[in-house]
Amino acid sequence: MTIGIIGGGLSGLTAAALFAKQGTPVTLWDAGLLGGRATSQTVKGFTFNYGAHAIYGRDQSILRKLTKQLGIEVTWLDFSASRAKYEFSGHLTAVPANAWGLLKTEVIEGTNKVRFTWEIIKTILRVERGDPLQSIGQWLKTERVDEQVAQLMLDLASTNFFTAEPEKIPSDVYFEYYQKLFRTRKPVSYIEGGWQGLVQELERIILENRGEILKKTKITAVESTMTGFLVRDRKKQEWNVERIIFAVPPREILKMATPTVIQRFVTPYASHEPVEVFVYDLGLHPYIQTPYSYIYDRSHRAFITDLSHYDTSLAPKDGQVLQAIAYLEHDRLDDPDYIGHVRTGIEQMLDVHFADWRQRIVAERTIKRAVVQEIKWKMGQTPLATHIPDHAGVAFVGDWCEGTGQLSELAFSSAVSVFNRWT
Ligand SMILES: Cc1cc2nc3c(=O)[nH]c(=O)nc-3n(C[C@H](O)[C@H](O)[C@H](O)COP(=O)(O)OP(=O)(O)OC[C@H]3O[C@@H](n4cnc5c(N)ncnc54)[C@H](O)[C@@H]3O)c2cc1C
Repeated sequence: MTIGIIGGGLSGLTAAALFAKQGTPVTLWDAGLLGGRATSQTVKGFTFNYGAHAIYGRDQSILRKLTKQLGIEVTWLDFSASRAKYEFSGHLTAVPANAWGLLKTEVIEGTNKVRFTWEIIKTILRVERGDPLQSIGQWLKTERVDEQVAQLMLDLASTNFFTAEPEKIPSDVYFEYYQKLFRTRKPVSYIEGGWQGLVQELERIILENRGEILKKTKITAVESTMTGFLVRDRKKQEWNVERIIFAVPPREILKMATPTVIQRFVTPYASHEPVEVFVYDLGLHPYIQTPYSYIYDRSHRAFITDLSHYDTSLAPKDGQVLQAIAYLEHDRLDDPDYIGHVRTGIEQMLDVHFADWRQRIVAERTIKRAVVQEIKWKMGQTPLATHIPDHAGVAFVGDWCEGTGQLSELAFSSAVSVFNRWT
């Protein structure tokens, strides 16, 4: 069996590494330089990741199994819960990320802490499973969950699903996700060196196992043949493979000439709404020392992470990398003033919590609309299946696909699912 993989983001690289390591000949094409949305960029000595590269519940995560299976070296940098704060009524309070945080936090009061703990227990025990026909917002109303507890449950979802509209998440998706995450002892961890370290490791596994990687090779057409598929790039180079994995988003697949069955299968997903954020990366010098390294502000739907606190390799000596991310409301994106308003909100947060930041800027980068996840989990939207019924030689992987977890976990888990099915 020979496999062609179109797309070298985390999903395509994972699929290629798994098959190559198992001895299957693979060819991977990427229009760019590998990594896709999981890349890092160095500006004046400061490393900015395209993305927050946080892995939630790494002890429960698919990435943990994957790194073992592939023999990948990842250095984990675990989040300090005691340095994580919520902005609450003009001051900072503990994030209820663990029992200590729940005890200390002011975002919910005494009896509500017990109610919130009860919701956690019910979720872990699968007493609460939600309803696919109800969003979590509707579910919280139907179940008459106390206002403070409901708000906290939605805040959690904002941070894990990167969404400004957590109430729209299907309630069954919500409970399935937290059933796993509430059991974790490692709520948030970063990968040392950013995504780039992981991308390089996956590339190493593919090449060491005789896989072929073709960078800067944009695929424009895929045709069915008697034995499989013919793949063509924009320079009219051609390859023959027996099976094909699309590791590019549905809207990119539609730009290629592909057999009608693939076009028809993918079309409904290409118009689904993505999860989008505003990102502001800052390289500062000298370092601003604070007792916190993460702040979430509900009123701005934004968070700031002092990444240098975890990863000293990101900045030159005495320098600091701060990353601010605001969750965008899709329906407001047509308003020309909206992004400016979001940016002002972030600047206000920086003024309050990292006073003097403006005088210390050495490098900065703004991404006005970054796609965190190609298909948002909201009522009326479903992810793409990894296989087309009755077309065994075609598969799809990516964070727009069915899988477990959210964000990059969907990229990893969809790749693992295709590997398991084909081996
Ligand atoms: C700002 C931001 C913050 C994030 N934070 C987190 C986080 O904290 N935790 C987390 O887990 N995830 C996070 N993510 C999400 C994570 O980065 C993505 O889920 C993951 O990178 C998606 O990988 P993928 O392979 O599914 O897709 P992509 O990265 O989109 O890969 C698609 C690849 O296909 C290639 N391609 C496209 N068209 C063609 C073509 N015609 N021919 C050949 N190649 C083609 C592209 O070059 C690209 O490399 C974040 C993302 C962003 C943007």
